[in-house]
Amino acid sequence: MSIKPPTYSLDHPEIRESVTRLCADFPGEYWRRCDREQAYPSEFVQALTAAGFLSALIPEQYEGSGLPLSAGAAILEEIHRSGGNAGACHAQMYTMGTLLRHGSETQKETYLPAIARGELRLQAFGVTEPTSGTDTSSLRTTARLDGDHFVVNGQKIWTSRSEYSDLMILLCRTTPQDKTQKKTDGLSVLLVDMREARDKTLTIRPIRTMMNHATTEIFFDDMRVPAHHLIGEEGKGFRYILSGMNAERILIAAECIGDAKWFIEKATAYAAERSVFGRPIGQNQGVQFPIARAYAQMRAAELVLREAIQLYDAGENPGEEANLAKMLAAEASWAAAEMCVQTHGGFGFAEEYDVERKFRETRLYQVAPISTNLILSYVGEHVLGLPRSY
Ligand SMILES: Cc1cc2nc3c(=O)[nH]c(=O)nc-3n(C[C@H](O)[C@H](O)[C@H](O)COP(=O)(O)OP(=O)(O)OC[C@H]3O[C@@H](n4cnc5c(N)ncnc54)[C@H](O)[C@@H]3O)c2cc1C
Repeated sequence: MSIKPPTYSLDHPEIRESVTRLCADFPGEYWRRCDREQAYPSEFVQALTAAGFLSALIPEQYEGSGLPLSAGAAILEEIHRSGGNAGACHAQMYTMGTLLRHGSETQKETYLPAIARGELRLQAFGVTEPTSGTDTSSLRTTARLDGDHFVVNGQKIWTSRSEYSDLMILLCRTTPQDKTQKKTDGLSVLLVDMREARDKTLTIRPIRTMMNHATTEIFFDDMRVPAHHLIGEEGKGFRYILSGMNAERILIAAECIGDAKWFIEKATAYAAERSVFGRPIGQNQGVQFPIARAYAQMRAAELVLREAIQLYDAGENPGEEANLAKMLAAEASWAAAEMCVQTHGGFGFAEEYDVERKFRETRLYQVAPISTNLILSYVGEHVLGLPRSY
């Protein structure tokens, strides 16, 4: 059984087909080995870069393909649907947006073409800190202007892919909170060239996690960043980061839909083929219905995602739809994962089936890049008009 492809106008069938073809060179065994060794899937990222998929959203004037977000979503969905994981490289698609929307023309001309050509990697996004967590405006990393440089001190956590990135988008405080009118003022975005500072004023420590994610914590100790690496205006960084959230939510939702489809296809195939008590297990409604339910949940989430994508590509600001899509798709992929393990019985726990690996991987989306509670808070406050809870 193969789930029918999406049929709306922004589905990019040719892109989906070529991503699927590329992913066929990276089968379960490849991902299992990376997972076992907690190794970065360099060959896969290299292949995606060479095929131009990671620069899909960079405008043509900066040597990218200039494709809409729907194309990015199609690429990420197919990677996940094929059994792979785009976590090693997806960030470039949305971190690049901060530079594209708010960077100066010089910054864009300096970096975007090199990123599009695959010569520079912009994979790291330093926002979360250990003490402030979800409360981003309370972050403590500071950047103080000293002549023509900022001097950065502090710590970030969960800065994924920083070991495999040349550049980092860094959010830090340039004006103390007690000197600003709003909590979210006084934060600024710096484009950090990590190659210069690494192992001197910037220390990276990998964090081992339950899935293979190349995530790290980072320490800044008087790290000097040229003042012209400030993106946009000083003090307005929080807004710049927020402006990329819809794209991020949509792209992550697409990955979740890809995961859900993988689980559903895998479970359906197994339920049809595995015979116990002299009949396929999928003939039992106790096995069949959870698969059907997971399918229905995935399709509903996919519809909301489709709406979010259509609005985004039409130039709207679909905060509600992007948030709902992310939450519903993450729930759909998690429900499908749970169903897939159950359908496989004991084999759901065996490494060689890939189910347990994908199960661990898809759990992340309930928490990162934004936790489900914070999406519900968004809906409560911004969609339903209820009082802010925090
Ligand atoms: C593998 C991984 C990769 C990541 N990659 C990156 C990255 O590249 N860059 C980056 O900047 N960050 C990254 N993150 C961080 C991620 O965005 C945060 O973990 C996430 O936003 C939650 O923050 P926290 O872990 O500090 O949880 P906390 O803020 O401590 O929250 C803990 C729990 O409490 C809940 N909670 C907190 N406040 C409220 C409230 N007011 N109402 C209701 N519930 C609440 C949360 O929903 C959560 O479930 C990554 C995280 C992981 C695990």
